[in-house]
Amino acid sequence: MKPDSRIYLAGHRGLVGGAILRVLRARGQQNLILRSSRELDLRDQAATFAFFEAQQPEVVILAAARVGGIGANSNLPGEFIYENLAIASNVIEAARRTGVGKLLNLGSTCIYPRMAPQPIREDALLSGPLEPTNRPYALAKIAAIEMCDAYRRQYGCDFISAMPTNLYGPGDNFDLETCHVLPALLRKFQEAQDSGAAEVMLWGTGTPLREFLYIDDLAEACLFLLERYSEPGPINVGSGEEVSILQLARMIAQVVGFQGSLVWDKSRSDGTPRKICDSQRLYALGFKPQVRLHDGLRRTHAWFLEHRSEARGVRTGA
Ligand code: GDP
Repeated sequence: MKPDSRIYLAGHRGLVGGAILRVLRARGQQNLILRSSRELDLRDQAATFAFFEAQQPEVVILAAARVGGIGANSNLPGEFIYENLAIASNVIEAARRTGVGKLLNLGSTCIYPRMAPQPIREDALLSGPLEPTNRPYALAKIAAIEMCDAYRRQYGCDFISAMPTNLYGPGDNFDLETCHVLPALLRKFQEAQDSGAAEVMLWGTGTPLREFLYIDDLAEACLFLLERYSEPGPINVGSGEEVSILQLARMIAQVVGFQGSLVWDKSRSDGTPRKICDSQRLYALGFKPQVRLHDGLRRTHAWFLEHRSEARGVRTGA
């Protein structure tokens, strides 16, 4: 990308888009096109087409989505499928109509079948049934990948799709009802530390294995792919750093300085026993994540302490 490329970053207020925006600004990109969801409703086809016609972006980063944890996905399945399908369909078609040179479509590794062999490779896509709790979201994301690939075949569009693993970092959702384990634990340990509580209650058994990627590494990977990659199908973006929930809890307790005990609520679900993606395709291109889990936890903790009062709501990528 040239320093003055016209880049439309959709979803710049979300966890993913916010990190991409920081990296684009740090690189001195001068022509960034940004709209909040209030300024431009990407579910509105006419508004989206008119916006692309007027702005003529050369590069599009599609990080706008309706996102949430297992609770939100289960309670609002209709909103999750409609909004994600509409956003992807409108943006990808508008990009084709206005001759966008490169588009990066972002999804998540929940597009892969529930029982896919681990670490999950890209060719596991559509090889088996999906996890039912987030199937509407996953199907919308799969449709977006298929759309990029179909447009590549029919129209020669250079549209690519990246699938990040579990993400964390500044700007994450810290609402205990809807958030993922990493922000939940940071918050629980910090609140126990503040109140002098002797123990912290965690969910499940602590044995499940998860992979975590710091959000700035994802942002760097996105720019790397935009510049050097042009293939159909999804490409995984993971850290390769796998930990058990118990190990994660111990690391977070150390970062926060909490010395009390951990209590496991075994009535809460463990979820899938292991979820890690195979990122060898990305690594073979020459990309390596830089931020180790311990360091990323310190940075996220520092951000949480600074933004506690505003960090409670439900995050949306749009
Ligand atoms: P998943 O990766 O899709 O399963 O979603 P989560 O990030 O929400 O949960 C990951 C694992 O952490 C599961 O085994 C949870 O049971 C476990 N866990 C332990 N304590 C907590 C907690 O306080 N909140 C959440 N969300 N998960 C927790």
